[in-house]
Amino acid sequence: MVRVRFAPSPTGRLHVGSAHTALFNWLFARHHGGVFILRIEDTDRSRILEGALEDILEGLKWLGLDWDEGPYLQSERVEIYREYTDILIERGWAYRCFCSPEQLERMRKEQQAKGEPPRYDRRCRDLPPEEVRRRVEAGEPHVVRLKVPLDGDTCFRDAIRGEIAFRNAELDDIVLLKSDGFPTYHLANVVDDHLMGVTHVLRAEEWISSTPKHILLYKAFGWKPPQFAHLPLILGPDKSKLSKRHGATALLDYRDKGYLPEAMVNFLALLGWSPGDGREKLSREEMVEEFSIEGVTKRGSVFDEAKLEWLNGLYIRELPLEDLYKRVSPFWVRSKFVRPGELDDRREWLLRLLGLLRERARKLTDFAEGATYFFRDPEDYDPDGQRKHWKDPSLTAERLRLLGERLAGVEPFKEAPIEAAVRGLAEELGVSAAKLIHPARLAVSGKTFGPGLFEMLALLGKETVLRRLDRAVEFLEA
Ligand code: GLU
Repeated sequence: MVRVRFAPSPTGRLHVGSAHTALFNWLFARHHGGVFILRIEDTDRSRILEGALEDILEGLKWLGLDWDEGPYLQSERVEIYREYTDILIERGWAYRCFCSPEQLERMRKEQQAKGEPPRYDRRCRDLPPEEVRRRVEAGEPHVVRLKVPLDGDTCFRDAIRGEIAFRNAELDDIVLLKSDGFPTYHLANVVDDHLMGVTHVLRAEEWISSTPKHILLYKAFGWKPPQFAHLPLILGPDKSKLSKRHGATALLDYRDKGYLPEAMVNFLALLGWSPGDGREKLSREEMVEEFSIEGVTKRGSVFDEAKLEWLNGLYIRELPLEDLYKRVSPFWVRSKFVRPGELDDRREWLLRLLGLLRERARKLTDFAEGATYFFRDPEDYDPDGQRKHWKDPSLTAERLRLLGERLAGVEPFKEAPIEAAVRGLAEELGVSAAKLIHPARLAVSGKTFGPGLFEMLALLGKETVLRRLDRAVEFLEA
């Protein structure tokens, strides 16, 4: 039975890179009918960020990555790690180290000066047992370190990268238990992966250097290590690891920017994995069905937001209008275009708005902040549009005034009679319809592009259209 885990540390908001790791574990578990475990690695008390755990849970829920077990909190399992540390000490695989932070700092400086890599010089590794007992009994603060073999290699087979070997001589005697009694990541991670029956560890490439230490720990305990697969990194456009300087890295920022979780899941899945036949849009079921470690690449993938937008547009167009309405509602409320209490009353109009804008939309915000003029009169007019479509202000003002008069008589104020009125007026004036349509669009929306003018006017309603035409005339005549 496949058992995998997602093991974030609550030291910050859920990063898209972590969400990517979570998704790959989830897909792997679901593909194999296995178990997806959520474990919170919160033993580094100094790095914990308030609200991070909630953000992680919310992010996973938003993506629909349901977990079967957990969340287990490592901070509630500290006793367990202490017991296992004692076992390692008894077996001669770990030792107590009494070096103070100041001593270690001095050591580091000296090594730096000599151009050596910083590492613990192992001075406590072979202290006489008598001395150790005495110092422990005297309550002297200490950590517990792993006794890394001094020679030989530590190897493992990575399911994506093949055989990977490290020289033991290059590994540090890492700390397993800190002086505050809390375990380090390495110890807690290995103990839990074993106790939780984890069969496969799918984690980001940046953890490769930790793996030999983990393999040694498995050996020390006499446990069989899980299968490791180090996932490709997510890169920024400059091919360095995605970070804040490339833009938003918190998963939920993408929710707030108007992306659908369906599109996000699809997009993240294709960062470093592909079904092998060039398909770019896959349903969740298809991804579960086809996911495999063999389809995962070694190389990192660039986080291309333009592609995410494109995919998001496809998903938006697929949603039934009613569903789209539910998804966009929070954005209307957020932008204060619609009060929560008004949503029901304005539902029919809002559904028409969605239908009108859906073809061009790429983000949910395109129906709210991106469609401000449907909710507020324009505050200004696109300068390029003015140069192009309002070249002669007094002539334009005159035409818009006439258009207003004509539209005032249109009843019912619907697309077809509006179109007939606009075209009729153009004919009477002896100009092409475009000579009315473009100036009118600019007057009513402030913009030079948007949905079909006649539909747009119908949706805005007669009163609004006439008011905006008047305002544009005033602006042109000022
Ligand atoms: N707690 C580690 C992290 O924050 C887990 C790494 C691993 O999966 O072993 O990513």
